[in-house]
Amino acid sequence: MICDVCHKNEAVIFQPHSGRSLCKDCFFNDVKERVRKEAEKQGILNSRKVLLAVSGGKDSLVLVDAISSFISASRIVAFNIVEGIGGYNRAEQAEKLRKYMETLGVQLVSTSFKSEVGYTLDEMVRSSEVKGMNVSPCTFCGGFRRKLINNAGILYGTDLVATGHNLDDEVQTIMINLIRGDLSRLIRLGDVPIKVSGKFVTRVKPLRKIYEWETTMYAYLKGYSFQEVECPHIVNKPTLRAKVRDLIYSLEEERPGSLLKILEQFDEISQKIRSNASFTELPRCEICGDPTSYGRRICKNCELLIRSGLFSREYQKYLPMS
Ligand SMILES: [Zn+2]
Ligand SMILES: [Zn+2]
Repeated sequence: MICDVCHKNEAVIFQPHSGRSLCKDCFFNDVKERVRKEAEKQGILNSRKVLLAVSGGKDSLVLVDAISSFISASRIVAFNIVEGIGGYNRAEQAEKLRKYMETLGVQLVSTSFKSEVGYTLDEMVRSSEVKGMNVSPCTFCGGFRRKLINNAGILYGTDLVATGHNLDDEVQTIMINLIRGDLSRLIRLGDVPIKVSGKFVTRVKPLRKIYEWETTMYAYLKGYSFQEVECPHIVNKPTLRAKVRDLIYSLEEERPGSLLKILEQFDEISQKIRSNASFTELPRCEICGDPTSYGRRICKNCELLIRSGLFSREYQKYLPMS
C-alpha cells in the first residue's frame, strides 16, 4: 500500500483516528507537527529554556526528539530521576539515555530520590508498609518526581518544565478527576498552562495529543532501544486508573478518534470554565516551602514522609486530622 500523504513511499502505519496509511517519514512528520502545534499553545516555541523530564521510556525519547526538531538543543535541558526501584533503574539504561542525548546535542542532568529526598522509593514504600499505611508506591513516586522536576526547573532557570504524558495518560487523568469530582485539578488540565504558584515552574505536556500506540511505533521505527521493563510497582497501580484505561481503550477500539475528541472537547470546556474562575496563589508547605493545596499547612510529600516515620517526631504536630 502507498502512503496517503506523499503518494510515493510504501505505507507502514495505519492511523485509525485519521483513516490514513502513512510511510515512516510522513508518520514522523505527522507526530512532530502535532507536537509542535501543542508546544506552540504551551509557550515552548517562545520560551528561553525548557526542561524535559526524561525517564528513558519511549514517551520521553519521542518528547526530546520532537522538541529538539523545532527548538535549538541549547534551549533544552533533559532531566532524569533515578527513583531507586530494585531491578528497574539500571545503570546501562542511564548510559543509553546519555548517549542518545549526546547525539541530539542536548544537555542531560541526573539526580535521584536518594540524594534529594534522602530515601530511595523502595525505602519509602517499605517504611510506609511497616507503619501500616495503605498508600500506593505511585503516590510516593508521582509526588516526589513532581517536586524534583520543579526544583530542577528553578535550578536550571527554565521557564517551563515538560513531561512526556501522552493522550492516553491525559484522558485517563481527566476521567479520574471527573469521577472523583476534583474540579480544582480538572481545570488545571486544559491545553494552555496556568500558573497557580510563583514557586511552580509552569508544567506542560507537549505529547498530550499523541496516542500511546503512536509513541511506541515512533520509538520502534526510529530504532530506539528504550526501557521496556515495566515498573515492578505497576501491579499496585490504583485500580481506578486501570479500570478507566480499559474503558477508554474499548471506546477507542469501537470508535477510533474518541480519545482525541474527548481531549479537544475538554480543552474547549476548560477554557470556558477558566474564564470565570479566579486563581489565587497556593499556600506554602510549612516544612519544605513547596506550594500545597488550598486549606493545607503542609504538602502531601511531607505528610507521606511523616506518616512513614521518615521525618523526626517533632513534625507529627503538622499532620492534618484524619
Ligand atoms: Zn509518505
Ligand atoms: Zn512539604
